[in-house]
Amino acid sequence: MQAIILSIGDELVLGQTVDTNSAYLSQRLAERGISTRYHQTVADDQAAIADAITHASRMVPLILITGGLGPTEDDLTRQAMSDAMAAPLVLDEQQLATIKTMMTRGGRRMPDRNRIQAMHPRGTDMITNTCGTAPGIFAKLNKASIYVMPGVPSEMLAMFARDVEPELDAFNPDRHVILTAKVNTFGQGESSIAESLGDLMDRSRNPKVGTTAGQGIVAVRVRSEFADAGEAQLSLDDTLGQVRDRLGAIVFGVEDETLQQSLVNLLRDKGATVATAESCTGGLVGKMISDIPGSSSVYAGGWVPYSNQMKHDQLGVRMELIDEHGAVSDPVGRAMARGALEHSGATLATSITGIAGPTGGSEEKPVGTVWIAVAEQRAAADPDVQTMLFQLPGDRDTVRDRAARCALQMLRFMLLDQSLDDMAWGKRGT
Ligand code: AMP
Ligand code: MG
Repeated sequence: MQAIILSIGDELVLGQTVDTNSAYLSQRLAERGISTRYHQTVADDQAAIADAITHASRMVPLILITGGLGPTEDDLTRQAMSDAMAAPLVLDEQQLATIKTMMTRGGRRMPDRNRIQAMHPRGTDMITNTCGTAPGIFAKLNKASIYVMPGVPSEMLAMFARDVEPELDAFNPDRHVILTAKVNTFGQGESSIAESLGDLMDRSRNPKVGTTAGQGIVAVRVRSEFADAGEAQLSLDDTLGQVRDRLGAIVFGVEDETLQQSLVNLLRDKGATVATAESCTGGLVGKMISDIPGSSSVYAGGWVPYSNQMKHDQLGVRMELIDEHGAVSDPVGRAMARGALEHSGATLATSITGIAGPTGGSEEKPVGTVWIAVAEQRAAADPDVQTMLFQLPGDRDTVRDRAARCALQMLRFMLLDQSLDDMAWGKRGT
């Protein structure tokens, strides 16, 4: 039930073109219950391609290859196939006629070079290309069935859909099913999440659980592989439930759901509205929330009070408070959130005040120091205000991006009545 995917081309190895073919093919294979053992990218080097093919053919029953079927000197996949199979290239007259027809449309002459595209190792079959000149090749070598497809993604897609995908079930006789799901978290690092997940991450476990991190978001990926579709789904759901239980409120969504989408949904569910007062992030939180269609029903609006004067004039922050503690401080953050709550009439407010850098840091408040406050107007007269101090790493863009996401997550925590202690990246204010 395993496949190997080879992509061929100097441009891929050099990093000039990103190998999207292999990613696409792996996804399609997984949908058919076939897992990919590895991807390998090989330069336009006949011996290296032949080696890769030979090696792969001894390991798995299915190999998909893309690229290197063009008519020029640097397209060597068919010659490498011929070497690996110790079978000379022979001409397929029918394919040659098809290529000729395509090339000579409009009275052009077919360059001699295109003749090679109608050639294939003896004993293999050609696969017609319905949208380009390079036919594919189907071959058997050692334990593997090998499908060679063109590198141009649109041609590969068409050939795969028409001639390869319909044959894949033969490589999965037990009808194995692979189901995957992704749970997104924000607020803790990958290693503390791994700690919470504990034995769920055992490599021998089915469903398998793994994590990937990027932009402060740690995604927990679950992969369930069973012979029975129902069992695969039940096991996936069970593991997803355990992941959620162990990680708690830092989980904000599944699959491609964003933190801002999740917050907007939650605000809507709770009938709540939010206002923003952003110094350090200059309106980024407002932008993220307002990016979500329909957010007007939950986002009251916000301030970007960069100057102390504006913090005072617009949000009622007392000048003495700023003089005493500095603009980047717990008391000023609190006052900004309270002011935003009061002046907007929203039920929730957040404020961000911090030092995004690269300048402006000090020993006491280094670059990356950010205070975030969230305030909620509950039934009682006095709003509930909670604050957190973050020391965010990275350049100016990164600090501002993480700060904005921290604010979104803190708003979610407040709406869910969850303790901010689970936001391990920050320290609670007093
Ligand atoms: P080839 O069939 O090797 O002549 O490839 C033709 C073109 O398709 C290349 O110039 C690339 O731009 C593109 N291509 C080839 N292989 C890939 C791949 N694995 N992923 C994305 N694009 C590719
Ligand atoms: Mg090429």
